[in-house]
Amino acid sequence: MDSLLRHMVDMTGHRDHTMLDISVISAVQELAGALQTRVLSIATVCGQKFVRSRACIRADGVACPEELYDGGSPGDPLAAFPELAHCLEHHDSRAEGLGADGRRRLWLPIWFGDKADTCLEIVHAHHFSADEIHMISGIVSVYRNFQNLLDYSERDSLTGLLNRKTFDDQLARMLHCADAEPLVPGQPERRQHGAEEKQWLAVVDVDHFKMVNDRFGHLYGDEVLILIANLLQSSFRSQDRVFRFGGEEFVVLLRSTTLENARKIIDRFRTNVEAHVFPQVGRVTVSVGFTSISATDSPVVTLGHADQALYFAKANGRNRACHYEELVANGLLQTIATNDTAEFF
Ligand code: GH3
Ligand code: MG
Ligand code: MG
Repeated sequence: MDSLLRHMVDMTGHRDHTMLDISVISAVQELAGALQTRVLSIATVCGQKFVRSRACIRADGVACPEELYDGGSPGDPLAAFPELAHCLEHHDSRAEGLGADGRRRLWLPIWFGDKADTCLEIVHAHHFSADEIHMISGIVSVYRNFQNLLDYSERDSLTGLLNRKTFDDQLARMLHCADAEPLVPGQPERRQHGAEEKQWLAVVDVDHFKMVNDRFGHLYGDEVLILIANLLQSSFRSQDRVFRFGGEEFVVLLRSTTLENARKIIDRFRTNVEAHVFPQVGRVTVSVGFTSISATDSPVVTLGHADQALYFAKANGRNRACHYEELVANGLLQTIATNDTAEFF
């Protein structure tokens, strides 16, 4: 019992999803005597469901958050886990089966209403008793409640997007990955058609948004922000992260892609907004500034670069996406750079 309480205290002491994941798998691993415990993410990409490992602990005690070994891949198709697929389809609380290695597995989806995008997977040598299942289900319930609480504190209440508080943490993690990825043994540096894959930061600002509020009122303004948040989520990829930064400004972190792709994805979003008919308001456009994320630049410098590219877009017609490094290379940002740096920071 002492051990269970100690794990509960540890689980509820975290303010970060990765640490919460690691503490829940540590608790289950020890208390259930498992061979391996993982937190799996279940995501839909192009209409197909994929399963990927988010955190893992094995008998040798190794915990491995996904960022350290898994790049932009969506993971394994859900079809490769037939018992789990059946369980999700029927909204069941758990599923059991044998893995490809012949070992027993117990899957426990974390349900929020009718959605489960997280699942615990426990690999074990013996059949679990009813008491063990009861104890594991209790841990899962605490995990679900606490995850709900963390989600709430990380999100903006109007749009449901991640908030600014969460951004610093995620950018720091991305910078860490930008640093660590080429060093992962056995993983070649990711290149595509000779172009280097990088992480990108884009700042999005709604054009003439004050006019929307002035002409149609704050409630219609709010609705535009909610619809733009939806367009952001549908235009960017599942591995990218979208934040509401404040007011009518949003930030996107794009993982592992080439300049050409980053430009394509950002422009797809910009044109999706341009083509959208907003109820009552009609046409709304956005301007975007983006820059590559480098482990050698601080978050403040990186944000400053994207902001400078955004202000260039604003000053040059709006409804466009500008790339910081390109503007600098073309000598278009020099004077703005010193002025804006002084102004922002
Ligand atoms: P620009 O094209 O230069 O970005 O012009 P703009 O009018 O979008 O920029 P400005 O910064 O002058 O105005 C931003 C407006 O956004 C002012 C503010 O009232 C409005 N705003 C900020 N937060 C919210 C919000 O949560 N809801 C609504 N409806 N309006 C908001
Ligand atoms: Mg603004
Ligand atoms: Mg604006």
